[in-house]
Amino acid sequence: MRKRNNYDCLVGQLLTLNLINKMKIYIGETGLDNTFQESFKKTTKCPKCGGNARIMFVGCEDYPEDKGNFICDLHENMKDNKYWVHDAIACAVYLCEDCFEAVAELNQA
Ligand SMILES: [Zn+2]
Repeated sequence: MRKRNNYDCLVGQLLTLNLINKMKIYIGETGLDNTFQESFKKTTKCPKCGGNARIMFVGCEDYPEDKGNFICDLHENMKDNKYWVHDAIACAVYLCEDCFEAVAELNQA
């Protein structure tokens, strides 16, 4: 289950330098197939205004030689009934062309 109100926090963590150095970042449409599940789409609906959000980049945790220090290690999933990811993630970050809101979609390994 995904909760959109967690996305702003997640985007901030993805942009933290330490995590960016641990992720492979793919600019624009080059990253759409870098996912653990079905491919990301070029666009998605903005949850804030309903407008069209276009792909900016995809971040994918793809470093199997480095044990630990995954985003899933930052917080415990379901601690105090709060959601967190339980495995390595791929995250597509979009930007709404109507309201300039960042929108993220993610999936897990
Ligand atoms: Zn929007």
